[in-house]
Amino acid sequence: MSKVRIYTLAKDLGVDNQKLLEILDSLGVVYKSVSSTLDEDTVETIKEILAAEAAGGTPAQPGTATQGAPATDTTDAATETDAAPAAAPTPAAPQPTPKDDVTPTPAAPTPTPAQAATASHAAAVAVAEAPAREIPHRSPVVTIMGHVDHGKTSLLDYIRKTKVAAKEAGGITQHVGAFEAQTSKGRIVFIDTPGHEAFTTIRARGANVADIAIIVVAADDSIMPQTREAIAHAQAAKVPLIVAINKVDLPQADVDRVKTDLTMVNLVPEEFGGDTVVVPVSAKTGEGVEDLLEYISLTAELEDLRADPNGEFSGVIIESKVDRQAGVLATVMVQEGTINVGDFLVVGETYGKIKAMTDSLGGRIKSAGPSTPVQVLGFSEAPVSGDKVASASNEHAAREKVAVRVDTRRTVEEARAQRKLSLEEMMGS
Ligand code: GDP
Ligand code: MG
Repeated sequence: MSKVRIYTLAKDLGVDNQKLLEILDSLGVVYKSVSSTLDEDTVETIKEILAAEAAGGTPAQPGTATQGAPATDTTDAATETDAAPAAAPTPAAPQPTPKDDVTPTPAAPTPTPAQAATASHAAAVAVAEAPAREIPHRSPVVTIMGHVDHGKTSLLDYIRKTKVAAKEAGGITQHVGAFEAQTSKGRIVFIDTPGHEAFTTIRARGANVADIAIIVVAADDSIMPQTREAIAHAQAAKVPLIVAINKVDLPQADVDRVKTDLTMVNLVPEEFGGDTVVVPVSAKTGEGVEDLLEYISLTAELEDLRADPNGEFSGVIIESKVDRQAGVLATVMVQEGTINVGDFLVVGETYGKIKAMTDSLGGRIKSAGPSTPVQVLGFSEAPVSGDKVASASNEHAAREKVAVRVDTRRTVEEARAQRKLSLEEMMGS
């Protein structure tokens, strides 16, 4: 027995991943994802801590055996050196088998300056990375990308059909560009605008709306140009990605080939020793979809996504359209805070008062908190997808905000014009 993955260990020990990650944090073990592997010593220490807790005693002095041993990732390990190792071992601790360059030198009573510096740097890192525990968790926002015809729409449809409770009484589910799925692992929000748009249009405006990207690859077609693009988008946005190998129901499906091809684009599947989560699915039969949802939840847990429902509101326009009867309908993803019917929203250089809000099932709602997509009625002009949305407490405040934005833009434009003029003068034209 050698290495074990974090989520496997959590499962084996019957604790949730979050708990395990907390213990790892307290041990100062650096990990990259729930599929990062832990060495034997770390596993033993975790077991001791859990046993001590179960026995009702104070947890064993963390890290008797494993202080500072980073979880090993087969990829990118070199880029993580900044954060590792967390602390020098306690002198009293039984010494682990020396492991060449990974384990720090056993602490002498007086640490060398270098060791002290490492330890204090590590402490600073630990502080900086300590999550603000008081801010509540929020649901992950997931986007699906991949080559045309590899089954993105089908996969979303399958999830929507099986995981979204059908709305009763006159409930025609309208397209709002996003939907919320209830799974056994909690709520997951899917953006069903074309995934690449979620990254190109929306990100170009400085807003990151998706937390996790699913890259769909058809098992009968493998990696195609748009698959590469999708991977590049997710990597540029620094969001974790999960590969769903779709269409495994087809007789010509070749999952192994896709896995090998993934390795060629530096996404090494777990069973090849990498840390890319790869889930074979069929949008047609539903095979594997439950696993996919589970991996999404696991990944979200690791990302430790939080937002304050009582904080200042901010959101992003997912899409908007003009309805002949209703007027402008804009889908807003709430990212922080809460919006209510009657609030004023400022987008670009316009503002509007929320007359009505609809959730992703088409039901009327009065307020919406973090990670909630809502269709908002009340803008006079259609906002552009990717636009950031702010709120204002009253109409006066909304106008002020818009006025400031208009001013800023004009100042920038004038400065630009001025620069152009002086450049032309310089060139003597
Ligand atoms: P998109 O362009 O990525 O959104 O792909 P679509 O969802 O439109 O699917 C393209 C085609 O593949 C359609 O004909 C689907 O019926 C088919 N398809 C999608 N998923 C599966 C699957 O899991 N199994 C099979 N056999 N066909 C699928
Ligand atoms: Mg499609």
